[in-house]
Amino acid sequence: MREILERGERSFSFEFFPPRDEAGEQQLWDAIRALEPYRPSFVSVTYGAGGGTRDKTVSITSRIARETSLTPVAHLTCVGHTRAELQRILDTYAAEGVQHVMLLRGDPSEGPRAEWTPTTGGLTYAVELVELARSRGDFRIGVAAFPEGHPSAYSLDADADVLVAKAKAGAEFAVTQMFFRASDYFGLVERVRDRGVDIPIMPGIMPILNLNAIRRQGELIGTDVPADVVARISAHEGDPAAMRAQGIALAAELCEELLAGGAPGLHFYTLNRSKATLEVFAALNVTV
Ligand code: FAD
Repeated sequence: MREILERGERSFSFEFFPPRDEAGEQQLWDAIRALEPYRPSFVSVTYGAGGGTRDKTVSITSRIARETSLTPVAHLTCVGHTRAELQRILDTYAAEGVQHVMLLRGDPSEGPRAEWTPTTGGLTYAVELVELARSRGDFRIGVAAFPEGHPSAYSLDADADVLVAKAKAGAEFAVTQMFFRASDYFGLVERVRDRGVDIPIMPGIMPILNLNAIRRQGELIGTDVPADVVARISAHEGDPAAMRAQGIALAAELCEELLAGGAPGLHFYTLNRSKATLEVFAALNVTV
């Protein structure tokens, strides 16, 4: 990531999640293949809250490393794992040729706003996982960042302190939670720079294709959907195609504002589909 940015290039990246079944797997690989020509600096694969998809993060990132030209970033969370288990998973990533990892605390099974209790013998905060990975091998480490603050952070300043601590522990880049006001992103960047830390912070872009679902998710994770955004999409109530087009237009406008204001790139939450990202690229005149 740093090398790409130091060459003066913009970073585009795409996030996927491990699918539950074969149809989902096909959809994921179709999306990966459709987005591959855009030469993203990385593609990341999330780590599930529990159950069967966790192993899939390992197998999908290994396959991306083996079979495509892409750089996979494997997510890993502290949820439900002891330190020894986390060490083993990190070692597996390294053995499979996955050198880039996105290290997170994860959320309680009751959701992001529930009280967090670490697993016995496990880790409490993402910063400890960053330290563990640094002690385990030559990983390039990404971490989460929150333009509107993590929902359980005391203040925006305390939230910035956490990101700074993760950078000082060895994280090389950060990716943000979804957000819809460029000013929230620039505020976070300013707080981090004021603390003397220059970690690249990739804005996480989620085009609004289903307003109600995004508002529900936003309430859980602490992302506000601004009234003007709601109004522009709701104006097309009853016309799903127009609502979708408005969601894409809003995402493209946000991307333009972010890039014009100095964001080092864009990270797209793809939901394992390429269509919305390609529509935003078309609006931004990004070509292969
Ligand atoms: P942390 O950095 O540990 O922060 C968690 C909370 O603890 C914050 O309120 C922080 O302010 C506080 N805190 C941190 N350190 C300290 C400290 N030393 N002292 C006191 N307070 C502290 N979830 C998944 O389950 N799987 C995924 O793959 C996944 N990918 C994600 C990718 C991105 C880009 C983002 C933004 C989020 C992702 N999440 C994922 C969700 C993430 O796990 C949650 O947002 C989680 O609540 C916070 O994770 P974190 O890594 O930021 O935790």
